[in-house]
Amino acid sequence: MKLYNTLTRKKETFEPQDGKTVRMYVCGPTVYDQLHIGNVRPVIVFDTLRKYFEHFKGWDVNYVQNVTDVDDKLIDRSLKTGDPVETIAARYTEAYFRLLDALGAEPPTHSPRATEHIAEMIELIKALIDKGLAYEVDGDVYYRVSAFDGYGKLSGRKINDLKVGARVAASEKKENPLDFTLWKAAKPGEPKWDSPWGEGRPGWHTECVVLSRRFLGETLDIHAGGNDLIFPHHENEIAQAEGLTEKPFARFWLHSGMLMFHGEKMSKSLGNFAYAHEVLEEFGAETVRYFYLSRHYRKPLDYSKEGLEEARKAISRVQTLIDEVSSELATSSPGEIGAAGRSFLASLPRFRECYITEMDDDLNTVGAIAAIQDIVSETNRFRATAATEDRPVLQEAIALIRELGYPLCLFQEKSRAMKGIEEELIRLLIDLRSELRTKKEFALSDRIRDRLAELGITLKDTAQGTIWT
Ligand SMILES: [Zn+2]
Repeated sequence: MKLYNTLTRKKETFEPQDGKTVRMYVCGPTVYDQLHIGNVRPVIVFDTLRKYFEHFKGWDVNYVQNVTDVDDKLIDRSLKTGDPVETIAARYTEAYFRLLDALGAEPPTHSPRATEHIAEMIELIKALIDKGLAYEVDGDVYYRVSAFDGYGKLSGRKINDLKVGARVAASEKKENPLDFTLWKAAKPGEPKWDSPWGEGRPGWHTECVVLSRRFLGETLDIHAGGNDLIFPHHENEIAQAEGLTEKPFARFWLHSGMLMFHGEKMSKSLGNFAYAHEVLEEFGAETVRYFYLSRHYRKPLDYSKEGLEEARKAISRVQTLIDEVSSELATSSPGEIGAAGRSFLASLPRFRECYITEMDDDLNTVGAIAAIQDIVSETNRFRATAATEDRPVLQEAIALIRELGYPLCLFQEKSRAMKGIEEELIRLLIDLRSELRTKKEFALSDRIRDRLAELGITLKDTAQGTIWT
């Protein structure tokens, strides 16, 4: 499989360094508010990649994502609302995990909270000072960018160009305007921890270095995030990790493109955003995932309701096929498959190959989705004229659509309409059974209960009526 590596600026063949387990780190949320829909793009993209690794490449994935639960944004929010930082962090951490679940994203293998690892961050900063890579001024500690040769290699920026840009915002305390904060002295009322430099808290860039090393070792297979993190966040992570260990920090750097709104980056500071949970409520996770994955993950994507509506239509074409075939085959009995059926079956593996070729090409979900839509077209064509004895092979096409849809989290379940009908049918049987019991027709009412039990549906009679599980 090839993946585009931001560090080398080309597609390279990827496999985990030990051949078995992918050590993958994806920068996580700062939990001061609900996520906006743009923040969801890397969540979906890297969840899809992880599932593809696990289900098509046979690799395990150790997927680590931090939760930034102390930060300027949290402190600002606390000052504005009067709620303690911990309360805000707990509220939005929970909201984040609820969102992952709603999106069908697997929870990370580890999701360490920054505040649980402050002692290790202090150790890292001490080691950087000992190596001459950092210095303390009045309780703040800064990274000495000039002491690390590789600075700028990920973003492709040159130190001299950066200096000109940074001069305006230069702090007088720093040796160099590019030097960045590793430890921040606490102002009165701010969350704080003891350190050799006085009370304070670690900078954000230090957090990811410590947490990724803690769970994944010194060299990660993949470090990923949105492309707005390339500079300065990821550049600053490399400076710390590689400055200290003199080993590569991550073999592959993957970055997803921005979600745009009328040509501008969607962001809370610009005010042109929609909350992810609200969009999910309106459109559902499958539509949101389809919308994102219908565009290559590195390209910018324009957010629009029309785009989401189109995604919804494209899904319903596949879903209609799944629903119709499922209900048709539920009543058919298996028999001998004819020549046309066998030839249809033989045509299916090439769609799977096509899908894998696309996904192996830098996670080209656009081509992968097209391969699935091709199965739908081919199946619809076959269905139109298929003889009765050949129709059971349609089930194989549906199974393939489900298998290929799995990493994308598409086409896994029956449509909402079908699920609604199933619940209605169960309710109907329960009502019928109640009527029979009122008429003391116990033999028949017990038969309904027993047949439902065989299907795994348990009825319980309560004072408020019959409930089922
Ligand atoms: Zn990070």
